Amino acid sequence: MASKVFWGSPRQSKLDAKETLPAKLDLILERLHLRDRVKNEKVVLKIHTGSNIGYSTIHPVFLRKVVKAIKDGGGEPVVADTEWDVHDAASRGYTAETLGCPIYPISGPMDQYFYEHEKPYKSIKSWRLGGLIQDATFLVNFAHAKGHPSCGYGGAIKNLALGCMSGKTRAEMHDAMHFDPYWFAEKCPDPAVRQAIIDACPFGAIVQDRDRPDGLHMHFEGCNQCGRCLQVAPPGSLKIDAVNFHTFQEACARSVEVSMGTFAAGKSIHMVLATHMTPVCDCFGFTSMPILPDAGIFGSDDIVALEQAVLDMTGQTPLIEENVPTSMEVHTRTGHPLRWLHGPLKDPYKVVEYAEQLGLGSREYELVDVLPVTEFQRTSVTYIPAN
Ligand code: SF4
Repeated sequence: MASKVFWGSPRQSKLDAKETLPAKLDLILERLHLRDRVKNEKVVLKIHTGSNIGYSTIHPVFLRKVVKAIKDGGGEPVVADTEWDVHDAASRGYTAETLGCPIYPISGPMDQYFYEHEKPYKSIKSWRLGGLIQDATFLVNFAHAKGHPSCGYGGAIKNLALGCMSGKTRAEMHDAMHFDPYWFAEKCPDPAVRQAIIDACPFGAIVQDRDRPDGLHMHFEGCNQCGRCLQVAPPGSLKIDAVNFHTFQEACARSVEVSMGTFAAGKSIHMVLATHMTPVCDCFGFTSMPILPDAGIFGSDDIVALEQAVLDMTGQTPLIEENVPTSMEVHTRTGHPLRWLHGPLKDPYKVVEYAEQLGLGSREYELVDVLPVTEFQRTSVTYIPAN
């Protein structure tokens, strides 16, 4: 059965606060019945506060509304993010005063408060789930949509997948991309050829392995699968293979299986704000130009349906190529525009497929516009006099 995804369009018919995204968030929260569902619940509101001087993460105006709804419903909210980002979140406007409730590091100030879940996947033996997530009885997952250098897209799944785990697990998830072999040294004994392979990559994505003189190491984040390195690598020595790229996406889905597994059925909602979508994730600590037009705000009980809907909506418009940093390259123009940006093996739909396979939700959805844009009409712009 199709899951409902509630959507607030970024478009307005009138210059009226009631038609803007924070007001549409209120409508989405009503349609999700958040207030009716949180009485006496310990609610964790998982966000990403970004880092350094990034300013395109979710503005406190939105978050304060969610916190208020939780309090109105008799819930006890805390806002949470990784310790790495919470420690200076105030410099980006996230404080208890602005949000209306405390903001805490998900696995404690020293990143040592976690619950270990043994669910081996490739090189990951166990998952260190932040204590604040497991201790909560209700989850509100509120993510900002943007590109991501490892998996093409970062949204609701990524917000939980990386953001609910302690630093050791986050690092292991990235490292898992190296689990399946991609460099076969015996097929390339000549150091000059190895250097030529390194030099062939304009993005510095292939480097000398620190531990093996005859080894090459891939920085998968920087690779857009252009294939230049394969043109100089001896046959069979180097693979640019889907299995390495898709490992990160599957690890994200499996991580969400762990975090969502600690909440009873019906005890979570998921939301995405798709505005000012940048090429890479908010961890980078800065905001660059948007590479997709704003697509609005989305909410659902079903994290898979939600992500599918966000990707379908953001996939309706082409990449804003003039806003892509000149250090990046678009060499394919098929599929989702984030695939154009990060390469075909970082197809943003992949993580949604894995999540559905794990039973985390359904890719079938019904999109419900919470405030459809009405017929074009001319109105005056009301003058707001100074006091
Ligand atoms: S495929 Fe292209 S981007 Fe990837 S490592 Fe090779 S040269 Fe670099």
